[in-house]
Amino acid sequence: MNQIFDIFIIGGGINGAGIARDASGRGLKVFLAEKGTVGSATSSWSSKLIHGGLRYLENYEFKLVRESLKEREVITKIAPAITQPLPFVIPYTKKLRSKLLIRLGLFLYDNLGGKTKIPKSSKINLNKKYSNILKSQFTVGFQYYDVQVDDKKLVEMNIDDAKKMGANIVENRKVINAKRLEEGWEITLDNNETIKSKILINAAGPWINEIVNNVIEVNANKSIRLVRGSHIITKKLYNEEIAFTLQNDDNRIVFIIPYKNEYSLIGTTEVDVNTPDNPLISNEEKIYLINTINHHFIKQISKEDIVDTYSGIRPLIEDFRDASKVTRDYVFDLNLQDKNSPLLNIYGGKLTTYRKLSEKVMEELNPYLSMQNTKNWTDTKPL
Ligand SMILES: Cc1cc2nc3c(=O)[nH]c(=O)nc-3n(C[C@H](O)[C@H](O)[C@H](O)COP(=O)(O)OP(=O)(O)OC[C@H]3O[C@@H](n4cnc5c(N)ncnc54)[C@H](O)[C@@H]3O)c2cc1C
Repeated sequence: MNQIFDIFIIGGGINGAGIARDASGRGLKVFLAEKGTVGSATSSWSSKLIHGGLRYLENYEFKLVRESLKEREVITKIAPAITQPLPFVIPYTKKLRSKLLIRLGLFLYDNLGGKTKIPKSSKINLNKKYSNILKSQFTVGFQYYDVQVDDKKLVEMNIDDAKKMGANIVENRKVINAKRLEEGWEITLDNNETIKSKILINAAGPWINEIVNNVIEVNANKSIRLVRGSHIITKKLYNEEIAFTLQNDDNRIVFIIPYKNEYSLIGTTEVDVNTPDNPLISNEEKIYLINTINHHFIKQISKEDIVDTYSGIRPLIEDFRDASKVTRDYVFDLNLQDKNSPLLNIYGGKLTTYRKLSEKVMEELNPYLSMQNTKNWTDTKPL
C-alpha cells in the first residue's frame, strides 16, 4: 500500500476500536490491524459492566471512579441499544465492611459523577424486598445501580463507525514488525504486507509488552502485571432482574449478574499469570466462585451446575500491591525516541473508560498531527 496513514493501531479491542473511531471522525487516516477478530480478546471476557467501580473507592481512586461514573452516563446515552441499568444488592455481612463504610462509599458513588439519570442507592430489607434468595442471616442490604453492556458489540459498533468514516480495519492479521523510518513507521503484517504511518499506537491490551519487546524492539518503560479473571455461568439462580455484589472474607467481591435471560454470570477471580495467551479457568477458581455462592445463597451449587466458563487477562500496571488493589486506571507511554516517529503505548484501562481514553490519545498526539477537527465529538454522537 503506497498510502501513508496518520495513525496505525495495533489491536482491535475496545481501546483500539475507540481510538480508530475518534481519530477517523477527526479526518485522520487510520489503519488498524487485529490478529484475531475485533473484540474477541479481553474486551469480550469482561464482567460486561459499564461501572464506576465502587470497590476502587477503598483504594482512594477517586479520580478513576469519578471519570468512570461520568463515562457511565455518556455511554448509556450514546449506546442505548446495548446498555441496561441494573440494580446491584450488597448484602451486609457482620465482621466485614461496616454499614457506615458502605453508606459512605455509596454516598460518594451516587454523587462523584455529577448529574445522573441512574437511580440513587438505598438501604433495603432483604427479607421484604428479595426474599428466598439469600440465607436468613442476610437481613440488611444496600442497593445501588450500575450498567450492563454487551462488551463485544460495543467494540464492533466502534469499529463499524470507524469504517464508515474511512478507517482501514483488517482482521486475522498479526503485526509482526514495526520499524522506525526517518519519518514515521513501516509496519509489517503476517502476510508480509507493509504499511506506512506517521504514528504508531500500541493498543494490544495484555500483549502490550510482547509488542514493545518483540515487534517494535524498544525498551519497555513500564512493567505490566497479567492477572487472570474468570467467570462461571450457571442456569439462572433467581428470577429477579437484579445483580448481587457479594463480599468475601478475603476482602474481594464477586458479582452475580443476570445473563442472556436464562443464566447467571458469576465472577471474578484474580490469579497472576505469565502469559496473555489462552486463559483458562482453574479448578481452584471454580471452587472459589462456587463457595462464594454457597456461603450466601439458599440455593446451593456444585461444579455440575456450571454450563460454561470464560477467562480474560487484565493488563494491569505493576505497582507491587495485592492484585485487587492494583489500579485499573490507564497510563500512556509516549515514546519520542525520534520526534518524527512517535509511538504511543497504552497500558491498563477499563471497558468503561475507553471513550475518554480515546479522547486523551487525540490530545496527546495533537502536536504531531495536522487534525482537521481538534474538537472532541464522541460524547454526543450515538454509536
Ligand atoms: C475478567 C475481567 C473482567 C473485566 N470486567 C470489566 C468490566 O465489567 N467493566 C470494565 O469497564 N472493564 C472490565 N475489565 C477490563 C476490560 O475488559 C479491559 O480493560 C479492556 O477490555 C481492555 O481492552 P484492550 O483493547 O486494551 O485489550 P483487548 O481487548 O485484549 O484488545 C487487544 C487486542 O490486541 C490484539 N493484538 C495483540 N497482539 C497483536 C498483534 N501482534 N497484531 C495485531 N493485533 C494484536 C489482540 O488480539 C486483542 O484483540 C475486565 C477485565 C477482565 C480480564
